[in-house]
Amino acid sequence: MTTKYIFFTGGVLSSVGKGVTAAATGRLLKARGFSVAVQKLDPYINVDPGTMSPYQHGEVFVLDDGAETDLDLGHYERFIDIRLSKVCNITTGQVYAEVISRERRGDYLGGTIQVIPHITNEIKRRVRLVGKETGAEIVLVEVGGTIGDIEGLPFLEAIRQMRLDLGRENTAYIHLTWLPHIGATGELKTKPTQHSVRELRSIGILPDVIVTRSDYPVDDEIQEKIALFCDVDAKAVIPMVTTPILYEIPLLLEKTSIANLILDRLDLEPKQTPDLREWQSIVDELRRDRPAINIAVVGKYVELHDAYISVREALNHAAIANQVTLNLTWVHATELDKGDAKEIFKGIDGIVIPGGFGSRGIEGKIRAATYARENNVPYLGLCLGMQVMVIEFAREVLQLDRSNSAEFDRGTPDPIIDLMPEQHDVSEKGGTMRLGLYPCQLQPGSIAREAYQTELVEERHRHRFELNNEYRFDLEQAGMICSGISPDNQLVEITEIKGHPFMLGTQFHPEFLSRPNRPHPLFNAFIRAIRENNGIINKNGNYSACERIGGCLSSYLTNSIRM
Ligand code: GLN
Repeated sequence: MTTKYIFFTGGVLSSVGKGVTAAATGRLLKARGFSVAVQKLDPYINVDPGTMSPYQHGEVFVLDDGAETDLDLGHYERFIDIRLSKVCNITTGQVYAEVISRERRGDYLGGTIQVIPHITNEIKRRVRLVGKETGAEIVLVEVGGTIGDIEGLPFLEAIRQMRLDLGRENTAYIHLTWLPHIGATGELKTKPTQHSVRELRSIGILPDVIVTRSDYPVDDEIQEKIALFCDVDAKAVIPMVTTPILYEIPLLLEKTSIANLILDRLDLEPKQTPDLREWQSIVDELRRDRPAINIAVVGKYVELHDAYISVREALNHAAIANQVTLNLTWVHATELDKGDAKEIFKGIDGIVIPGGFGSRGIEGKIRAATYARENNVPYLGLCLGMQVMVIEFAREVLQLDRSNSAEFDRGTPDPIIDLMPEQHDVSEKGGTMRLGLYPCQLQPGSIAREAYQTELVEERHRHRFELNNEYRFDLEQAGMICSGISPDNQLVEITEIKGHPFMLGTQFHPEFLSRPNRPHPLFNAFIRAIRENNGIINKNGNYSACERIGGCLSSYLTNSIRM
């Protein structure tokens, strides 16, 4: 069977939810029995976002195969419950690098290399690779940026050509726009949508469906007006009104005709009736009045919540399963450098220190770890957060006052966190960390083992530094448990503090594998520990959070197998 392709473009302005719309649409198609994959085309010239500042780009989402990708891939994986691979994110940088290296090899036999056809052909090859590599029946392709951006043009030209290459019945184009609201007259305006569709048509792409995002409901008149001016059926104008509940979007879209319109266009019949009951129960749970827990995320990029989007979502998933409402407080690590931790963490039930790079804010994070350890406040350290937990323990418990990570203090007498041996000769920055899925053996009797309910797990990594084995014995003697170790016994992957209700750090990033209906076991255990610490008794009595949402542990494990 030919793979069918659905292309998503965006108009009017950025940040209107193109990634989430593509992800939610993918969910609806999967619910109709189709295997789906999603690809993001990013027009920037970086080879991948791995070298970009989170301030510029938000989170870097890491895949099983170690690809460092756009945060939209996180939405795709979470909404559709799939595991993607490196072919699912391409950038202008990758496309040009490939074409230029072929030119240097002489592959073009003296030809002049041009944007059309050489760059566009390479884009098309990479788009088709997703169908080939994943075997998906339907591939959703999101074009990053907004119509009108100069750098997006080769991608748009490539997807335009794909309708000619693959045939009308194998391609669909969905355009997402924004309807501004004029407060004075209380109207939604369609003009920017008309302009953006005109621009798209001038490139040669006629949208099959227009999704209009707005903060206010869209009436029939607006739908008809857009249909008339943009030359689509009125029923192909799909309103998407802003909701405060992210996971409601598939349900809102399900109420529209989008999935059936797409299947019609692609000449497909649904294979099954969609069953979104589990999804509905997640949204119902989020709407319920539940006891609140207060969690502080201590980071360096806290002004930009997108920098920690998977962490935030993983906490949300665990809160849903544990029937509590999550109140997040974002604490800038530098505030803690000098500020009073007791004051800053007043009313806080749990502390999370997410991943990060560079020395800014490190001392503040160490103070947060001291506060958590000394006051029995549940603590979850993710990658850098685990390293901080180890440095803190070394300084305060082993009394190695100047202990540090070699990343922050090259001259430290006690590099308790040090560069991994294989990193010593690495000078290039892009794609050279320890990246992707690696196995980890869990120690019997530990919190981690109890949480995962299994012995061996595989988790996604992105780091250069590790716990220095020379200190492992002393740390363990003093009450730190190395509860997750690489099977060759070389790398400590999880640390815990003996006797603490929940102080646990992971060298990997568990947040990337959490799902709304299947919270990650460690996030689940963290939230459960907070709930127990706070003495929250659930109305339904003594239940296991995982049993409620479809048996998260067993399905977490079966889903660890790559799709
Ligand atoms: N900077 C640390 C390292 O490279 C931690 C990385 C991270 O938190 N992702 O090891």
